[in-house]
Amino acid sequence: MTTPTLSKPALSTPSAAELAALDKAALHARVHQRVEAAWQLAREVYPALPLPKVWLDLRGKCAGQAHFGRQGLRFNPVLLAENRLAYFVDVIPHEMAHWLVHHLEEGERMPPHGREWRSVMRRLYGLEPKVTHMFDTRGASPAPYRYECGCQSHHFSVRRHRLAHAGKHYVCRQCRQRLVLCSEKVI
Ligand SMILES: [Zn+2]
Ligand SMILES: [Zn+2]
Repeated sequence: MTTPTLSKPALSTPSAAELAALDKAALHARVHQRVEAAWQLAREVYPALPLPKVWLDLRGKCAGQAHFGRQGLRFNPVLLAENRLAYFVDVIPHEMAHWLVHHLEEGERMPPHGREWRSVMRRLYGLEPKVTHMFDTRGASPAPYRYECGCQSHHFSVRRHRLAHAGKHYVCRQCRQRLVLCSEKVI
């Protein structure tokens, strides 16, 4: 297997100092701009791709999430504030790549960090498709799906994950928040 050479990142890299100087409102506005820039690039591959909505409402250890039911991308404002450059360089294109792959024909059936997603990361965004945390897709773990609330991680079996995916709500006993699937720890 050959390792493809990477071109430089397709989106311009902002300066860390400039990002560090932004207040919360300005930082969040920049996230929206960055999502739009990543979306513009994705439209070169798939012109009909809808612009996702953006929420900064994830908590816990979950860095980002493409939420197809809600038609948008969710990010974690606390992790964003602490890891600004990583979000602009990596996390936002990472989630947009999920958004794009999901909208391709048969995309819903493709594995989250599978061949198509990696190809979008490399070829479209010029990024190494890093997945520092994801489900154990080899099925070695009895509870391979990680869900997050506001306070901890919860590991779901395939069966429980299917129920959650079908709409069943699970709530954390400690913090009472609804559990959301998290495939990305990233940071
Ligand atoms: Zn909790
Ligand atoms: Zn991912």
